[in-house]
Amino acid sequence: MPIDVLDPEVIAQIAAGEVVERPASVVKELIENAIDAGSTQIKIEIKHGGIKLIRVVDNGSGIPQNEVALAFKRHATSKVHDSSDLENISTLGFRGEALPSIAAVSHVDIITKTTGDSSGTHIVLRAGEITGQGRGAGTQGTSVTVENLFQNVPARLKFLKSGSTEAAHISDLVSQYSLAYPEIKFELTSDGKIVLQTPGNGSLRDVLVAIYGLKTAESMIEVGDGESQVSGFVSPPSLARSRRDSLSFFVNRRWVKSGLLIRATEEAYSGLLMTGKHPIAVLNISIPFDDVDVNVHPAKTEVRFRSEGEVFTMVQRAVRAALVVESSIPDVKRAPRPLGSTTSTVGTGRAAIQERLFEESSTAQAQRTSRALPESRLPILRIIGQLASTYIIAEGPDGMYLIDQHAAHERILFEKVMAQRAKCDVEVQGMLEPVSIELTPRQGSMFNRAQETLKSYGFAIEPFGGQTYLVRTAPALLGEGDITRAVHEIIDTFAEEGDRSKAEERIAASIACHGAVRAGKVLTMDEMTRLVLDLEDAESPHTCPHGRPTMVHFDTSHLEREFGRKL
Ligand code: ADP
Ligand code: MG
Repeated sequence: MPIDVLDPEVIAQIAAGEVVERPASVVKELIENAIDAGSTQIKIEIKHGGIKLIRVVDNGSGIPQNEVALAFKRHATSKVHDSSDLENISTLGFRGEALPSIAAVSHVDIITKTTGDSSGTHIVLRAGEITGQGRGAGTQGTSVTVENLFQNVPARLKFLKSGSTEAAHISDLVSQYSLAYPEIKFELTSDGKIVLQTPGNGSLRDVLVAIYGLKTAESMIEVGDGESQVSGFVSPPSLARSRRDSLSFFVNRRWVKSGLLIRATEEAYSGLLMTGKHPIAVLNISIPFDDVDVNVHPAKTEVRFRSEGEVFTMVQRAVRAALVVESSIPDVKRAPRPLGSTTSTVGTGRAAIQERLFEESSTAQAQRTSRALPESRLPILRIIGQLASTYIIAEGPDGMYLIDQHAAHERILFEKVMAQRAKCDVEVQGMLEPVSIELTPRQGSMFNRAQETLKSYGFAIEPFGGQTYLVRTAPALLGEGDITRAVHEIIDTFAEEGDRSKAEERIAASIACHGAVRAGKVLTMDEMTRLVLDLEDAESPHTCPHGRPTMVHFDTSHLEREFGRKL
């Protein structure tokens, strides 16, 4: 084919492809325009996942009559004038690309009115060209209707998913914007049904209720306050999800997708979440406009920070601080199963019981109503005794506590290992006789890489020939724990991908797990007292390093109800 300059229509379609990938991108651009126009109410209506129709109606400033046609010209914007403005972008839009891009690939109908104009303006466009113009309704604001999306771009149309998948993307997106702007009333209607409605009263917690439901919203933990650089809400560890899709980040209230912010948030949960679990977070980061570049991609969801390290630390610290204050004890509020109940098919082994306790306590926690937030410190506890050689029974000012001796000890040791390691001051125990251990060939091939790290945690190990290795010292905190299994686990972490800090945590968790007192071991009163005192000193006493609770709490009023003393 000879070289040829493309038709303007093809150029417009190519450019539109960068901004409008799917129906949700149209909704995003229209919502951003409505927000930039100072709206306090934004209604979004979609049909068949937006493929058939998208309508966004706002009560913002409107577009002056003589500028409406201009707004659909490429690079026409009222938000940026010269290149110095690009360094200080405070609006969501600035590229002047959205309206022309949307119009290039659909049928658009816009009605808009400012307070200054006596009547509204109505413009109809087909494939980017104005095909009709007239007067519109008299209410202030803008209504944009987009129909037949991608009808003239078969290549794009082919890639659209089903109406319900596209609708799900749109409702995710509207959720994100309503979280970022609690003072704006959002309403999303899909095929005639209202799927999301926010009150627009400025309360982020009320938006959380609309999106995640009352129970989740009530147990979310506040990060910072309105004035802080990092503010919003994060979930308690017990509410974690198995997918990463509940992490929402905003930079100066612009919704962004950022691996850096995800990592910083998850880092704050170190040692609080079970592997494979992810928190819920809604966080806004306020930074000077010139410390962040939003002009990375036409879709404007990627940002670059001038100082990534500072942002990372700032977010990680803010979230951690909120979690440490609020890391709470699960309350048992559900009625116990009647004795002799045969409906339960769950096992009765220790693991099964623990699993069930955890499950029940986390539901109970989710059911908690918003009462005063518990302190991170434990109340003063009086040890009563031991149950099933596994749980410590204790009395506190507000009821009974059952403490899982293994989980509690694991938490204590985990924090000690991390602290000793941070100070490069690891306490070691020498072996009277070196302990010989076997490594699998795979572990053996990792040994050279792992040796230094093992050393830094107190394991002096040398190859003895073949698959045998000699352990001369071990971390003192491992006590009489299983050296072989701890070493195996630590070497295995080297085979796994992932960031170093997670690996460090897993190493500390292995040492803690094997060093901790086992379930099934009879403890003396003194030993139990020591353990509970140490737990009181822990930074996050309420969960073990894998995120399981170290204790469950039966509050006095619950006991009274159970015994029929109180209704
Ligand atoms: P950008 O938002 O990057 O400026 P757009 O193509 O999205 O570019 O919009 C072009 C212009 O049209 C905006 O700068 C703004 O002046 C005007 N505009 C678009 N939508 C609205 C709206 N809902 N209310 C008021 N003005 C709007
Ligand atoms: Mg815009």
